Amino acid sequence: EAAAVANIGVVGLAVMGSNLARNLASREGNTVAVYNRSHEKTDSLVAEHREAGFVPGYSYEEFAASLQKPRTAIIMVKAGAATDAVIDELMRVFEPGDIIVDGGNSLFTDTIRREKAARERGFNFVGMGVSGGEEGALHGPSLMPGGPDESWVTLGPILRSIAAVAEGEPCVTHIGHDGAGHFVKMVHNGIEYADMQLIAEAYDLIRRGTGKTPAEIADIFAEWNRGELESYLIEITAEVLRQVDAATGKPLVDVILDQAGAKGTGAWTVQTALDLGVPVSGIAEAVFARSLSSHPEQRAVSHGLPGPEEAFSVDDVDAFVEEVRLALYASKIVAYSQGFDEIRAGAARYDWSIDLGAVSKIWRAGCIIRAQFLNRIADAYAAEPDLPVLLTAPYFVDALTRGQTAWRRVVATAAAAGIPSPAFSSSLAYYDGLRADRLPAALVQGQRDFFGAHTYKRVDREGTFHTLWSGDR
Ligand code: NAP
Repeated sequence: EAAAVANIGVVGLAVMGSNLARNLASREGNTVAVYNRSHEKTDSLVAEHREAGFVPGYSYEEFAASLQKPRTAIIMVKAGAATDAVIDELMRVFEPGDIIVDGGNSLFTDTIRREKAARERGFNFVGMGVSGGEEGALHGPSLMPGGPDESWVTLGPILRSIAAVAEGEPCVTHIGHDGAGHFVKMVHNGIEYADMQLIAEAYDLIRRGTGKTPAEIADIFAEWNRGELESYLIEITAEVLRQVDAATGKPLVDVILDQAGAKGTGAWTVQTALDLGVPVSGIAEAVFARSLSSHPEQRAVSHGLPGPEEAFSVDDVDAFVEEVRLALYASKIVAYSQGFDEIRAGAARYDWSIDLGAVSKIWRAGCIIRAQFLNRIADAYAAEPDLPVLLTAPYFVDALTRGQTAWRRVVATAAAAGIPSPAFSSSLAYYDGLRADRLPAALVQGQRDFFGAHTYKRVDREGTFHTLWSGDR
């Protein structure tokens, strides 16, 4: 039997698991046990990274025997049935008190179910969101672990040692119990969808309004990346736009098929928000924009539909670019505000105690939405931990005050020019909905009472009312 020499193990050695295992092995004091269902992956990882000193297991029994107690293993396999299968195997060969971490992109309700089942058998099960893709896994991801407090004693120091670092602080915090970590990772991905869509709309408006080339627009994004929009997504957008296709010499963005893919976490964010009754309209529009793009047959038959009569061009190019920048920033504030609203609502529904400021801080490095901006969110929650609407924090109110006129002009321009800007415009509608004194929801309540006797409340009296509408006669 193998000697128990490893303090941490990784199951699943595809790109994410291999890189996470290498990251773990590179840290002082760690000895890493590795296991993969097909042994070739185990062999090649061990052979290619002798410096890592991996302890390979070729059966679950051998893997378990190589781990010190409490055994701690991170699973990085396909989400869904594969994850359930691996958890079952680990519970078969591990003992109560051992820690099983699922680092895959699992749906948080699966994590809640798995945590409960594992707890009943005495295991510590931790669902952990891992962000930052392959690079993050290798050099420092943003980590969002849930699970029981006990697990954090063993796991905390290990995770802190491999996480990305932002301003001296590791990008990991114990998010909350059971599914809290995967919930927060899900919303992170939803915000990522919105941020990407907003950037894409900004690019489209500038390109179609000014005739600038992708390379010229790359320069604009590079410039924006030196200001309040500074972020990984703005930075890589500049690089994507600058890229030239080797085969044709055209801008690469012009030869990429305009149908956006998705792996489902954005849809989960929106489905969950619908269940919670949280209006994440910007995130939803971003998910739907990808869906619309991916229906070529519908787009083909719709091609001849009438659009604006006049061609679109802007007179003052620099002023327009600045207005688009302000609209982008304002819409981005809305997207994050909506995402944090969903986390707040999820915490209330599932009884998690989530520190929203800490969440914004662990996203400052090692993940796709990393940005300067997240410090402002942390400041907002530090000043007011129970802030009901993030965008009402003073810093964001200042930004919206500076940007709102431009934002309105950009949305109006886009509508007049027939350029779709679903995320820009829905974010603005959300903003105006929030700040409205009165909403036409009063009329909706009247309609509901008319056809369904659903009753309504009044502004001037307590109680529930039903009107005898003429339609009842
Ligand atoms: P993946 O393609 O999602 O999964 C491949 C791994 O799953 C292989 O190790 C495979 O083993 C194993 N596997 C599949 N079915 C199995 C089963 N029934 N029993 C045991 N093992 C099974 O790998 P990945 O891209 O590295 O991602 C791993 C996890 O991280 C996923 O949950 C993914 O969603 C998540 N994630 C990925 C990224 C990313 O950027 N790729 C970012 C964050 C999180 P075999 O080699 O034997 O087939």
